[in-house]
Amino acid sequence: MSAGRYEAVIGLEVHAQLTTRSKIFSGSSTAFGAPPNSHVDPVCLGLPGVLPALNREVIELALRLAVATGGTIRRRSRFARKHYFYPDLPKGYQISQYDEPLAEGGRVEFRVGGEARTVRLTRIHLEEDAGKNVHQRGGAGSLVDLNRAGVPLVEIVSEPELRSAEEAAEYMRALRQLVRWLGICDGNMEEGSLRCDANVSLRPVGQTALGVKAELKNINSFKFVQAAIAYEIARQAAVLDEGAAVVQETRLWDADRGMSFSMRSKEEAHDYRYFPEPDLPPLVVGEDWIARVTAALPELPAARRARFVTQYGLADTDAHTLTAERDLADYFEAAAALADPRTVANWVVNELLREVRRGGGDLGAVPVPPAHLGELCRLLDAATITGKMAKDVLAQMVTTGAAPGAIVAAAGLSVSDAGAVEAACRAAVDGNPRQALQYRGGKTKVFGFFVGEVMKATKGKADPQLVNEILHRLLEA
Ligand code: ADP
Ligand code: MG
Repeated sequence: MSAGRYEAVIGLEVHAQLTTRSKIFSGSSTAFGAPPNSHVDPVCLGLPGVLPALNREVIELALRLAVATGGTIRRRSRFARKHYFYPDLPKGYQISQYDEPLAEGGRVEFRVGGEARTVRLTRIHLEEDAGKNVHQRGGAGSLVDLNRAGVPLVEIVSEPELRSAEEAAEYMRALRQLVRWLGICDGNMEEGSLRCDANVSLRPVGQTALGVKAELKNINSFKFVQAAIAYEIARQAAVLDEGAAVVQETRLWDADRGMSFSMRSKEEAHDYRYFPEPDLPPLVVGEDWIARVTAALPELPAARRARFVTQYGLADTDAHTLTAERDLADYFEAAAALADPRTVANWVVNELLREVRRGGGDLGAVPVPPAHLGELCRLLDAATITGKMAKDVLAQMVTTGAAPGAIVAAAGLSVSDAGAVEAACRAAVDGNPRQALQYRGGKTKVFGFFVGEVMKATKGKADPQLVNEILHRLLEA
């Protein structure tokens, strides 16, 4: 194994589909999954005599990302035509941005194995998506679906600063979290809303000049990002070990076979013949627009995680989990206002999220509003119910959508009948004289034994606070 002699260098070009309802230069819908060629119009079909008109919402969404990553936004940027021939590209060129992108610089923070990392961004630019070729089984032919043609994308290009397949996958995860957090992309990798090209090269450890890279095209899952890059690192290391040279090429990842194969080499590389798009005016973004976007930006994931630790005293891992998605962080804070935030964090992370996963992963699909979870945690904090009872109550909350107080009252779950609890406590103390003696002799740890006896006798329904009080009184008499 030779990989240890080389350092891997990786830069990602990530495409994120912006969540506008209509396309970037025309009015047809961007909805996924419609019948082929039903969301098309003269502009995205490239019919003669029509002109593109920029969708302002696209800029609004892209600006959020540029501001959130700290990039420098061009007050005046420009669209360009990128020419190539492919059946899914009706105009014969893609409208993209080239030498004057929307934003340059900025950075994305992420973590690998709990350690903080930062990757700088080269640029963020806008472009339109192409259509999709649908190849029929058995070589019967290919069909073209242009629903996706003209769907708005931001391309986020990173500097070649990632050093391992794992780092690349974590960076991609952080980027997905960020675009979802900002509400600009749904991050659905299966539907192609988020995908990346990975550029990979090796160089001898200690060398600063970059090696020759291969570009892995169109990777659409975290698993494939990691697998395709790991494969590529091993492949290039083997080439270099043989004394051969890595050739600059574009490769395609075959997930079924777990390997990539060459699509085209540098010699066949496209000359895109970029030139400024004559049908669109320069894109002008005024100070006021940037100021408005900046002011409306939500607190970002890393800042919110840090605040959860300092403000609520949460463990870093819980704060990390609770800030994975903005709606989850909002949920936690709404519930945390009603009970001890640490109780709430514990119940969201360990109990509620299990229900969410069981229900398909959508927080909104579980009929437990934050007010209900907060109330449940308050009952726990006050020791009106035990942890075990709370789990049963939560299970009922999930199936019925009822409030915890109502469930507890209806089931008579909490025994606060002082007489019954007193009798159970007395029986526990009188029935176990040896342990009572130990307790009175200073071995206070046996207190838990008595609590256990009472809970057993009352089938876990006794109000724990009441049990505590009575046992203390009886044992310390
Ligand atoms: P290209 O013109 O081939 O698209 P760019 O210079 O525009 O190349 O870079 C595209 C992506 O490839 C960027 O994310 C960049 O960080 C990355 N990259 C560039 N050179 C290398 C290299 N030698 N090794 C790994 N990644 C690289
Ligand atoms: Mg490229």
